[in-house]
Amino acid sequence: EAKASGGNSFRFFDKDMLDIVNTRAALEADMRHGLQQEQFVLYYQPQVNSAGVVTGAEALVRWQHPQKGLVPPSDFIPLAEESGLILSLGAWILDTACAKLAEWQSSEDTKNRTLAVNVSARQFRQNDFVAQVLDNIARHHIDASKLKLELTESLLVDNVEATIDKMNQLKTRGVGFSLDDFGTGYSSLSYLKRLPLDQLKIDQSFVRDILSNNNDAVITRTIIALGQSLGLAVIAEGVETIGQRDFLQQQGCLSYQGYLYGKPSADLR
Ligand code: C2E
Ligand code: MG
Ligand code: MG
Ligand code: MG
Repeated sequence: EAKASGGNSFRFFDKDMLDIVNTRAALEADMRHGLQQEQFVLYYQPQVNSAGVVTGAEALVRWQHPQKGLVPPSDFIPLAEESGLILSLGAWILDTACAKLAEWQSSEDTKNRTLAVNVSARQFRQNDFVAQVLDNIARHHIDASKLKLELTESLLVDNVEATIDKMNQLKTRGVGFSLDDFGTGYSSLSYLKRLPLDQLKIDQSFVRDILSNNNDAVITRTIIALGQSLGLAVIAEGVETIGQRDFLQQQGCLSYQGYLYGKPSADLR
C-alpha cells in the first residue's frame, strides 16, 4: 500500500510509477506474443572493403509490429535484456542469421560473405551459449569462419576468465569476434590484449564528426593504430560520406559500414 500521508504529490508520483510498470509489463507481454507470432525480422547492412566490394553484412533486428509498424531495436532490446526475453529473441536471431549464412554459402557470388551478429551480455553469459552457437553451425551446415559475433566492452570486462574461455571454445571452431562500439565503453588496454578478438569496430559517434572535430579524428586514428599493433582488423560504422571514408582509408581503416554503402535492409542479396 502506497504512502497515504504523502499528499497529492505522492499520489501522482505513485500513479506515474504504476503507469511505467504497466507500460513495461504490456510491452513485455506484447514482445512475448510477437516472438510467438514471428513478428521479428532481421535486416542486413552491407560491410565493404576499400575497393567498395561487399564482403559481408551485419544482422540488425527489427520488430514488424502489426499496429506500431517497424520498431527499431533501441525501443525493445533494453527491455528484452532486463526481462530475460533476450534469451529466446537472441536464439531466434542466431538461428535466422545462420540460415541466411547458409543461403549465402550455397551461391557462388555470395559464398565468401561474413555475417556479424550482435550478442547481448545476458545471452553470452548463458551456460550453454557455446553449445547453442555450435548447434546452429552444425544444423545449418555453415562455414563457421564466416560467422562473426559482435560483443561490447561492458560484456568483456565482466568475468574476464570465463569470457576468454567461451571465446576460445568458439574461436577454435573458426568463429570470429568483433568488439562493437569500440571506444564508448571502459575496457582497459590490458584486457584488450588478452581477449581473442579479430576485429575492432569504431563506434559511429567518432566517425560522425571525424572531419570537423579534431578530438574524434585523434581518437579514430588511435583506435586504428591500436588495432594494427594488436594485429586486429578495424571496421568503421556509421560511414555516411566519401570524405569520412577517405579519411578512414588514409589512416589505415580498410573496412566500412554505413549509409554511404547501404542502409540495413531485409533483402540484401
Ligand atoms: P550497433 O550494433 O552498433 O549497430 C549499428 C547501428 O547503426 C544500427 O542501428 C544501424 O542501423 C545504424 N547505422 C548504420 N549505418 C549508419 C549510418 O551511416 N549512420 C547512422 N546514423 N546510423 C547508422 P540499429 O539497427 O537501430 O541498431 C541499434 C543497436 O541495437 C545496435 O547497435 C545494437 O546494439 C542493437 N541491436 C541491433 N540488432 C541487434 C540484435 O540482433 N541483437 C542484439 N543483442 N542487439 C541488437
Ligand atoms: Mg553491432
Ligand atoms: Mg556498433
Ligand atoms: Mg554503435
